[in-house]
Amino acid sequence: MAQLFTHLQRIPLLPCKVQEARKFMRLFSISAQKACQVRVRFAPSPTGHLHLGGLRTALYNFLFAKSKNGKFILRIEDTDQTRLVVHAAQRLEDMLKWAKIYPDESPTVGGPRGPYVQSQRINLYHNYMKNLLENDSAYKCFCSKLRLDWLRNDAIRRNETPKYDNKCRYLSQVKIEELERKGTPYCIRFKLETITDPYQDLIYGPILINVAEHEGDPVMMKADGYPTYHFANVVDDHLMGITHVLRGVEWQISTPKHLLLYKAFGWNPPLFGHLPLIVNRDGSKLSKRQDDLHIEHYRDQGYSPEAVLNFVTDIGGGFEGKEHNVLLTIEELSEKFNLARLTKNSCRLDFDKLKLYNQMDLQRCLKSPTELPVLLDQLQDLVKKTFEEK
Ligand code: GLU
Repeated sequence: MAQLFTHLQRIPLLPCKVQEARKFMRLFSISAQKACQVRVRFAPSPTGHLHLGGLRTALYNFLFAKSKNGKFILRIEDTDQTRLVVHAAQRLEDMLKWAKIYPDESPTVGGPRGPYVQSQRINLYHNYMKNLLENDSAYKCFCSKLRLDWLRNDAIRRNETPKYDNKCRYLSQVKIEELERKGTPYCIRFKLETITDPYQDLIYGPILINVAEHEGDPVMMKADGYPTYHFANVVDDHLMGITHVLRGVEWQISTPKHLLLYKAFGWNPPLFGHLPLIVNRDGSKLSKRQDDLHIEHYRDQGYSPEAVLNFVTDIGGGFEGKEHNVLLTIEELSEKFNLARLTKNSCRLDFDKLKLYNQMDLQRCLKSPTELPVLLDQLQDLVKKTFEEK
């Protein structure tokens, strides 16, 4: 059984890779539908509240999975231990539940490809790191903080973008052994290759970013033994059988690097689509620190999950035959979801719409014999809480 599981982990479930799917089906005699099953994930870092951008990513992944009879996975990416916020992971999962975005696999639900918290998968990353060192796609970097700071300041002084100069890529074996004998701390870097071909973004079309031109070799494993985001993210997407990665456009710049990692491992990559930026109504950038962008804030203000979800989908597009100002349930949203209808235009927030959808949802509840009593209970609680002292 253990052997079967390791094997399962190694085979990516790509719907479009017919050969892979056939191989998979032959090996385990499972149905075509299962072999081609869509598996998507929401992979937040537990560094604070769930904000609108995060909710949009989770929701679109969920709707896509449901529209394809696939699975939606929640994975907590907590490898940057310096940025952790206590209870943030649990709060994120609670808020998804509040919004009726139920993961099929997650830290609390569990599932066959867990654990779903990266800090519980550290040994696994070390094993995969060995593969990259062995096939010469990665190397140990012994540069001190002092040297790296000097490199950075020197670049800034010359008005250039700071980047690592890949010095340790060229260390001799004798030198490496000497540094190791002395116990010099090291991190592990990935050798960036030149990219000449674009990749096909599901939303933005062909994207060509030659990372090696702008960046030095990136760190994959820090000196403290923790993997960086890029490494853990790619290893986990592969092991968890992720078929499509839908994430915010701010991650688009990382994708070529991730594709290089897939190539170095000899793995089939998932398909990538990046969701356009969410901006204020006037087109200005949102700030993560804005309190009114937290989902908890909307819940506490009395907005219903349906109102928030319709508000979020209204700005983003991606639906077939969805009229504006018509409130849909999450099931109706998933029926109408169509990835091909997503555009690259930035999404402008219009908070008047949120109020409008909330009013519409209230009216819907007032007419529903099952929801009316729930609403009345909530109202009673609210009155009690508000007038307690009086
Ligand atoms: N941990 C990343 C985040 O905080 C995940 C990005 C991705 O989806 O690859 O958003």
